[in-house]
Amino acid sequence: MQKIPYYPLDRINAVYSDAFTTAFSSVLQSGWFIRGKENLAFEQNFASFCGAKHCVGVGNGLEALSLILKAYIALGVLKKNDKVIVPATTFVATWLAVRAAGLEPLPAEVSESDSLLTREGVLSVWNSEVKAVIAVHLYGKLAPMESLEQLAKEKGFLLIEDAAQAHGAIRNGRKAGSFGNAAAFSFYPTKNLGALGDAGAVVTSDSELAECVKKIANYGSSKKYIHELEGENSRLDEVQAAILSKKLTRLECDNKRRIEIANTYLQKIKNPLIRLPKYEFLGEHVFHIFAIHSPYREALQKHLERLGIETLIHYPIPPHHQGAFRNLIQAPFPISEKLSQETLSIPLHPQLEDSEISQIIEAVNSFSLT
Ligand SMILES: *Cc1c(COP(=O)(O)O)cnc(C)c1O
Repeated sequence: MQKIPYYPLDRINAVYSDAFTTAFSSVLQSGWFIRGKENLAFEQNFASFCGAKHCVGVGNGLEALSLILKAYIALGVLKKNDKVIVPATTFVATWLAVRAAGLEPLPAEVSESDSLLTREGVLSVWNSEVKAVIAVHLYGKLAPMESLEQLAKEKGFLLIEDAAQAHGAIRNGRKAGSFGNAAAFSFYPTKNLGALGDAGAVVTSDSELAECVKKIANYGSSKKYIHELEGENSRLDEVQAAILSKKLTRLECDNKRRIEIANTYLQKIKNPLIRLPKYEFLGEHVFHIFAIHSPYREALQKHLERLGIETLIHYPIPPHHQGAFRNLIQAPFPISEKLSQETLSIPLHPQLEDSEISQIIEAVNSFSLT
């Protein structure tokens, strides 16, 4: 029996080994390690990849999100304690970023079919104190941005994308990072575009915002030793920027392979004890995670483990049940709670081989309660 790890980063990065060596030597020889030409090159490439005017490299995805919010506060668009709608199902960083900026997260329920925010979900919690909405492209699928953009116009709130899981996701020619006012990306090693350490970026076509994010992330300074704001240090290393530029050249091709594998799973996984996610248009989804659902998750996970297949849970405890948010007033979120109890992520990455895919499908299909 072949063991199938969930996400073998050594194998996934091995294809870039020569390119990484070249990138690293070049930075080493340049003698310049923070905010240099590798940053500029990556920022330009990634902004144009997303179809936006600006990209600002920052320390990680959480800070990319909080920097967007802090910059809007500095620009007078948001103010302390404004409410920000966030999905009840997401990685905890979405909520943490809101708190880090001194704002209040207001969770909204997600759709059961794809775990994403909906227009109705947003409307059901909206009130006049809401000044921004963060839509998360969870698992790599674009949130319903067109209808949220429409709502943002009607109600007058900022629309921000948490695109940490959706590099390259596209619908009707528009990519993640080009919707709404600004987007946050993470390049954590396991993301579709992953660095060899922490890294992130803010992508936006709002020039004033991009300038302000850059300033806050660099000690509140745009001119050396002149500090206009109480800033922080959140920058992208030259080494990571050089690595990311190399990986960006293959991102579309890697995403295509992910979609192909997901398509195979969607067609061939057939088990009455398992619910598959529903996707109408596969192109808009870049399958950072392939999550299946079962009320018998624990038994299913054990079954797959016995057959050598490693799985993960994204995410076992929703943010509103985390100790970190115990002081926030919480409505019940039955869909998010059910998702957190039933979701299970099976291996999906660009280097997964056909034989592994077949083994995974067979193992999932052979799950029964006896
Ligand atoms: C990974 C992730 C983040 C945080 O990114 P880091 O680079 O780890 O700080 C934020 N939101 C979502 C949805 C993520 O998946």
